[in-house]
Amino acid sequence: MTKRALITGVTGQDGSYLAELLLSKGYEVHGLIRRASTFNTHRIDHIFQDPHTPDRRLFLYYGDLVSSEQITGLIAQVKPDEIYHLAAQSQVKVSFDMPEYTGAVTGLSTARILEAVRHSGVTTRVYHAASSEMFGSSPPPQHEETPFHPCNPYAVAKLYGYWLTSIYRQGYHLFACNGILFNHESPRRGETFITRKISRGISHIRAGKQDKFYVGNVNAKRDWGYAPEYVEVMWQILQQDRPDDYVIGTGEVHTVQEFIEEAFGYAQLDWRRHVAVDPRYFRPLETPELIADAGKARRALGWSPRIKFKELVQIMVDADLEAMGLPSPGAGKRILREKFGDWHQWQGAVQEALSGLQREVP
Ligand code: NAP
Ligand code: GDP
Repeated sequence: MTKRALITGVTGQDGSYLAELLLSKGYEVHGLIRRASTFNTHRIDHIFQDPHTPDRRLFLYYGDLVSSEQITGLIAQVKPDEIYHLAAQSQVKVSFDMPEYTGAVTGLSTARILEAVRHSGVTTRVYHAASSEMFGSSPPPQHEETPFHPCNPYAVAKLYGYWLTSIYRQGYHLFACNGILFNHESPRRGETFITRKISRGISHIRAGKQDKFYVGNVNAKRDWGYAPEYVEVMWQILQQDRPDDYVIGTGEVHTVQEFIEEAFGYAQLDWRRHVAVDPRYFRPLETPELIADAGKARRALGWSPRIKFKELVQIMVDADLEAMGLPSPGAGKRILREKFGDWHQWQGAVQEALSGLQREVP
């Protein structure tokens, strides 16, 4: 029997990779996208299937998670075997500017999904995209038993979804799981997140379109992994015999400054000439240091990261240079070929998605 998956946030970084992974596994993939007056489907345009395509396996629906009107009917109609709830206002800095909205989307949407599942009577497994930001100021390394001390409205909203997922698992016996994922990046990462801001900034500098860009706190420490590996583990989490929560990360930590130096060094540019600090990018409160202890995932799922910090930097810089039509050093491309080669390859995963044609969902 063909398995059916419903992905919220299918137009996002993770949602787009997950859609590719599940299609490669033979799933029928149903994705929720929100209506916008501008195009927001560039990350999935390369896998788009025209509604007239016979035997198509990718179906897209408009819907906004600020309300439950769409999601309830959709779950009843699609009857998915698995739901991956990834949609969120996912930017920490924005969550300080829009705390109420972030609560409504990032937090309450999880209540809407879980309630819709509960009332639909559909037997489905639910993955909730929780976040390492929930650990906040708790000293690293952080694991499943580490106390939560969130430092921003985004993290608080995720914590609401985390506990709700746990409560519905215990109280209503739903197969509901939290993936507590640490930062994961890729050429499809949103342009306002720091890693992509750096790799994209480098490509703009190389192309002569920009000479300088500005960043905030360069002392923050993060555990950065490669997003396609993280969507693989989302799938694995829902294939287990029992629902559970898992911390996912590389266990390797670097400062923002180190990311800047590594990326500029790889592109053979002097970061001192092109990067400056602007306090406008500081946050009212910072999450100082996130490092995953992913021992449980290693033991229970056999998961460990293939791509580490330096390789991630090389993949991202190569991709942004190529997207700009510039030659790249090429190590990133080689890494993908050697370490993936199956569902996730440079062509499609990187090239086509970056230069994707803009298209309306019919
Ligand atoms: P992302 O690129 O920001 O994608 C977020 C997705 O949610 C987009 O498809 C976005 O649609 C959609 N969305 C936002 N508001 C919505 C609304 N009101 N109704 C319906 N859809 C809405 O995030 P990501 O990096 O893929 O991350 C996926 C999930 O994992 C998020 O929940 C994020 O918070 C969480 N997470 C991410 C990381 C990470 O490092 N990437 C780490 C831990 C947890 P548009 O395309 O229209 O904006
Ligand atoms: P986050 O960990 O989910 O907040 O992911 P981000 O990529 O947005 O930020 C990672 C870290 O980089 C945080 O500690 C930010 O304060 C820091 N940072 C420093 N400069 C910038 C910047 O210009 N933009 C962003 N987004 N983050 C920055």
